[in-house]
Amino acid sequence: MQVSSKPSVEAQTVHVGLDDTDSTRGKCTTHAAYTIIDYLLNKESVEFIDYPLLIRLNPNIPWKTRGNGAVCLRFRTSYHEGLLDRIVELIHNEDLIATGANPGIAVYCGDTVPHTIQYFARRALYDIVSRKTAEKLATHNQIRFFTDGNGQGLVGSIAAIGTLLQEDHTFEAVAYRKREKCGTVRKLDSAQVVRYDAETFPYTFNNYDKAHHRVLILPHGPDPVFCGIRGESVEIVCSALRKLKIVEKLEGYMVFRTNQGTNLHLQNETGFTDIKCYKAGFSLCRVNSRPTVIEGGHAMFSVKDSIGAVVNAAVYEPTDMVNIASKLEVGDVIKIGFGVRKASSKHPRVLNVEYLQVLETTEIFETMNPLCLTCNKRMKSEGVNKGFSCRRCGFRDRKAKKILIPKPRMIENNLFVPTPRAHRHLTKPIHRYGMEKNLKNFSGINLWSTWFSKT
Ligand code: ATP
Repeated sequence: MQVSSKPSVEAQTVHVGLDDTDSTRGKCTTHAAYTIIDYLLNKESVEFIDYPLLIRLNPNIPWKTRGNGAVCLRFRTSYHEGLLDRIVELIHNEDLIATGANPGIAVYCGDTVPHTIQYFARRALYDIVSRKTAEKLATHNQIRFFTDGNGQGLVGSIAAIGTLLQEDHTFEAVAYRKREKCGTVRKLDSAQVVRYDAETFPYTFNNYDKAHHRVLILPHGPDPVFCGIRGESVEIVCSALRKLKIVEKLEGYMVFRTNQGTNLHLQNETGFTDIKCYKAGFSLCRVNSRPTVIEGGHAMFSVKDSIGAVVNAAVYEPTDMVNIASKLEVGDVIKIGFGVRKASSKHPRVLNVEYLQVLETTEIFETMNPLCLTCNKRMKSEGVNKGFSCRRCGFRDRKAKKILIPKPRMIENNLFVPTPRAHRHLTKPIHRYGMEKNLKNFSGINLWSTWFSKT
């Protein structure tokens, strides 16, 4: 074991936040975390008090690379002096930062995470937070940090530290490829995925999209992730990974505790006068205009909040929710989770609907001609304000008016979420409703022994 040359002090909890080490040209922040953990476990004297956290932040941030993921490592050590420098040296030596990335690495020492950092983290889930705010927070709380490029990675690294994830969470076992394999095709027998999915669902999820016959656990880019298996416990995701019988020689795997599959970004209720572009949230509202399905198969309609503010909403074709959305009628009471899409020269600002809950449907009516009072046949109009007459018996009624017949509604009060292939990382799959976890009185976790593996 090689530790810092600095003398040891009393053990403290250290929180390391990490973000934006990747770019579209490659690398992956979770893999950088994997390499740092390998170093910490082998070369430093640390005791992890939680699994590494993979925190998905506001998915509407326009400058994200893919899934807006940041990572936090929490452990106890006496050797925190100079730790940031040793980690920075490692990521440079191991070439863990992609060209064009704007990395941020933050180190906070303290047994509890200050509320201001937790608040910052909550906001980063559904709003845009500035680098300046992150810098001020760092100065105020003696957070030491390293940034490069435009420094935006500091936001995610501090937000990861501020997320304790004591509420709902899931796990993901991420398997990593050897460096020389990155960029080559990932080979996997999809029958194995179908098989373990059947054996482990609902305790693992988003493995395979049965409706579209698509394997969902493989990324497609040049990054070092071979696959990721999501589920409800460390045991289940590790055992599913074993069942996959991957032929490619891997670097190893690691299990993250994560906010994926929890909808945690959609927890703040937002009125339509407050909405800002790129924000996420939910709203109880009424359908204000009947949905129309536009080119591309997307449903567009408007919604009105409790104080009468109106905004456009869109349900996109890939979500497979258009069929439902297009049955909405003016006056229906709905709850929607959404991200706000910025207005462009072609489109106004719009709420991108991430889930739709129908709470109350209004009665709708068909307008028909009245029935003949003598022979019960439907009458014909004699013209505007001229009444109706019966073609069969000749009965005429000058005062008769059109009548309203209630029409059956083809939509039920229910919750509708996108099909798995259209899920964002944070999207809560329908089967997880009722499976939410909670770590009350959180004071660290006993880690399952198989959470980290290097081959
Ligand atoms: P991956 O999912 O592959 O790790 P990514 O999608 O996370 O990639 P990043 O390269 O990390 O993309 O870019 C996201 C950037 O946005 C980071 O610099 C992060 O600090 C910043 N960021 C994240 N959330 C917010 C937010 N709410 N407000 C402002 N900046 C944010």
